[in-house]
Amino acid sequence: MALVDDGIRQFREDNPFESMMWRFDNAARLLDLDPDLYKVLRVPNREITVYIPVFMDDGHIEVFTGYRVQHNFARGPAKGGIRYAPDVTIDEVRALAAWMTWKCAVVNIPFGGAKGGVICDPSQMSQGELERMTRRYTAELVDFIGPERDVPAPDMNTNEQTMAWIMDTYSMHVRHTVTAVVTGKPVDLSGSRGRREATGRGLLFVVNEAVKKLGMRPEKTRVAIQGSGNVGGIAAKLMHETGYQIVAISDVRCGIYNSKGLDLPKVMTHLAKHKTLEKFPDAEPVTNKDLLELDCDVLLPAATENQITSNNASRIRCKILAEGANGPTTAAADDILESNGVFVIPDILANAGGVTCSYFEWVQNRMGYFWKEEMVNERLQDIMVASFHDVCKYAESHAVNNRVAAYMLAIDRVAYITRVRGIYA
Ligand code: GLU
Repeated sequence: MALVDDGIRQFREDNPFESMMWRFDNAARLLDLDPDLYKVLRVPNREITVYIPVFMDDGHIEVFTGYRVQHNFARGPAKGGIRYAPDVTIDEVRALAAWMTWKCAVVNIPFGGAKGGVICDPSQMSQGELERMTRRYTAELVDFIGPERDVPAPDMNTNEQTMAWIMDTYSMHVRHTVTAVVTGKPVDLSGSRGRREATGRGLLFVVNEAVKKLGMRPEKTRVAIQGSGNVGGIAAKLMHETGYQIVAISDVRCGIYNSKGLDLPKVMTHLAKHKTLEKFPDAEPVTNKDLLELDCDVLLPAATENQITSNNASRIRCKILAEGANGPTTAAADDILESNGVFVIPDILANAGGVTCSYFEWVQNRMGYFWKEEMVNERLQDIMVASFHDVCKYAESHAVNNRVAAYMLAIDRVAYITRVRGIYA
């Protein structure tokens, strides 16, 4: 991917941190951000690298590299997931940590931002190896995480079981049970009802608002979804139940397309049974790349970063782009989408349902009192709908696109609190 030069500065399009920084700089300039605050907010608060020795099942030791980037604490404890993947880089974790700060500010919940990552290939590891790696990673971070410090959660290739191990390891070290140290735990282990579905449900809420705003109707709205995991799969199910036509969906390897709408319950049964969408009848195969360019009304990239770039942005045909993944669109694609009239619901708004429900989990843990699922979903809807309209209003009153508006709103909120707290120097 290209080196982008916008006449002001250069950035590597495929580097998520440089993409994020370009958008940050742009928003800071439009906000006329105080130069001293700019210097403070453009860097993470702390970056931790740990080396994690793990006994593998055959008895030899493997040493994994792990990161936790704590980007900002101004609005509250740092918050953000942990991902396990072979291609994790510090720049990716840095970008993801910053996005958490902006995301929590957009939905106005009292958290800063952080992200963790461990370079490993979980598909090649046993449960025992994953457990030992998770526990040692947690032990290395014990002094840096905690309910008032930094609260991890699941992300790519981590799940409720991973959170249970982190919660247990942390609790063993501090010698009492601390449920609020992580969110996304199993419901039986002080997790929140509705947390598993919350990112997908949040997407549904903001897409519903966008559809209404653009004068469309769910029954006449064709949706293409890249990804069928915890975000894409749940969004597909909930959107199908709401009456949307799901015309395409994919897994890591391949996708399927039917212009008349897929039989979603059948798709999900096929996926659960075969662990792939391959060979699903009543649909044409599509690649993950081609899926993005299909004729549809709503496109939902819910897989990974850098999917919509300066190379393919001009071929994106949807009316609404709702970013379920973090960073699916590069900064160099933003202007192309805008000039083609695509209504973008940016990642830091669209996928904020997950962390919003994490906030509810943290609150419930600290109260020791658990809410019914209806209450969780209702409060999630209130926050997602209000945040959607906050961003749209900001965009309209400042004559900027939705992504620029979301960044400006978030940076302004974090800058304001930083000014009020003052710099301890
Ligand atoms: N990993 C999710 C995200 O990127 C959730 C983070 C959380 O709940 O803290 O938003």
